[in-house]
Amino acid sequence: TTEQANGKKWVIATDTVFKPFEYTNENNEFVGIDVDLLAAIAEDQGFEYELQSLGWDAAIAAVQAGQADAIIAGASITEDRKASGWIFSDGYYNATQTFVVAEGSDIKGFEDLAGKNVAVKNATAGADFANSIKDEYGFTITTFEDSPTMYQDVTLGNSAACVEDTPIMATSIKEGALPLMIVEGMENEGSPYGFAIMDEANQELLDMFNAGLESIKTSGKYEEIINTYLK
Ligand code: GLN
Repeated sequence: TTEQANGKKWVIATDTVFKPFEYTNENNEFVGIDVDLLAAIAEDQGFEYELQSLGWDAAIAAVQAGQADAIIAGASITEDRKASGWIFSDGYYNATQTFVVAEGSDIKGFEDLAGKNVAVKNATAGADFANSIKDEYGFTITTFEDSPTMYQDVTLGNSAACVEDTPIMATSIKEGALPLMIVEGMENEGSPYGFAIMDEANQELLDMFNAGLESIKTSGKYEEIINTYLK
């Protein structure tokens, strides 16, 4: 970020491990689609910011407490969140939430989860999805703080499945990083990701995000960033 004479330095919170939207690469640099989009939008709009990688629920808590001005963390735009005070930007990427099982698992549909346990990540759209159908299909739920520990509960065999955003899971699986597989048909309708504020006083930042997003879509920068991380 660049120095500006009178510019406010916005504090923006994000997740820690949510590849390819935010993660630490092999050179120990914090990178990803959210990281690059925000940098390009800030440059386009001429605002300064500090990105804080806090973790998903910690990032939400920071914005709720006013310690951060906004969140960019692959946050799904949902009606529930809007009703509880989140004010979203325009959507910038569509993602569904999908059930994921261990490689070689015989789970083929929700019916196969009866009597089993499902791992979810605290306060996510994936957790909401699992909670909305657990009684119907008779499975229990264990909640984790971050994506890696949630996956681990499945690879260790403690949980029969976990629920993750499809582009995140597809990236890890494609890279051969995890012995997990997406079960086709076990996904929700999904919704777009949005940047969000929770205090109307930060509307100016939200407006700049929307204007910058439109501008980098027109310039081709948006597509370039997406293609860098998702092919
Ligand atoms: N898209 C999901 C949600 O908004 C997960 C976000 C995340 O884990 N960073 O709940």
